[in-house]
Formats: sequence, structure tokens, C-alpha cells
Amino acid sequence: MAGMAQEEIEKELATVYTVLTYEDYEAGLKEGRLVGLKCASCGKITCHPMHVCQWCSSRSLERAELCGEGELTTFTVIRVPPEGFEADVPYIPCIVETKEGPCVMGRLDYDAERATPELIGKRVKLSGAYTYEGDKYSGGAHTCPVFKVVG
Ligand SMILES: [Zn+2]
Repeated sequence: MAGMAQEEIEKELATVYTVLTYEDYEAGLKEGRLVGLKCASCGKITCHPMHVCQWCSSRSLERAELCGEGELTTFTVIRVPPEGFEADVPYIPCIVETKEGPCVMGRLDYDAERATPELIGKRVKLSGAYTYEGDKYSGGAHTCPVFKVVG
């Protein structure tokens, strides 16, 4: 963006950001939809909201709905909570590689006492959304996807 006036840069970024904001993403989750972005240059899907394609850095993005299915890439069981998450323990943050390609962070809806590394690689499906109030570091409430093991 060298040579561009600050005003031009802000105008361009504002256009990009409105394709899919975090507010839109979280509203979609609350309706049971996983919303991402499809790249017009390489055709791949990016999820969660970003201002460039995660695969080729193009800014030609449009909204796309993901199927909500994928594979459990990794997870951990939280028993000692960070500040602000005391009521949630035990809980299972996880990363899911979606069928469309991008990895998404969320929570796994699974009995924390029975969770073992054998779960990694299992098929999972979007089963809901979880809204956490946040703490002094997170800038307020946010909503993340919740996944359930289906195979
Ligand atoms: Zn791309």
C-alpha cells in the first residue's frame, strides 16, 4: 500500500471488512451456520473472518456458508480455568479441520472425563454455539462454534 493516502487505505480496508465481520460470523453461529469467505482468485474457503484469503492473500472474497462438518485436529481439556472462565470447567477447546479446508477453533461437546487422544481424527459436526462473557483481556463477550463427535 506504499504511496496510498491514509484516507484511501482506510476506505479500502472498510470495504474489505464489510464482507464478513466478526459480528456477522458470531450471528451466523447463533443460528447454527458456519459462515466463511470464498476466494474469487483461488476458489478456496477461509473461515473465520479475515481481510485476505488465508491461502493466496487475495482480497477478492465473498461470503460462503460451510457445511459445519470436519475432522477433529486437536483438543485439550481445561480444568484450571483462566480468569473469567471459572464456571466453564471442565471444558474442551478444539481445532477442527473443516471439509472445505480451513481450520476453525471452537469447543468440543464431549464428556471431559472420557476425552482421550483417540478422539483426534474423529468426524465432527457443528452442533451449536457457545457465548462466553470474556475477561479483562478479551474485550467482551464472544461466540464460538461447538462441535459434536459423529464418527
Ligand atoms: Zn485465495
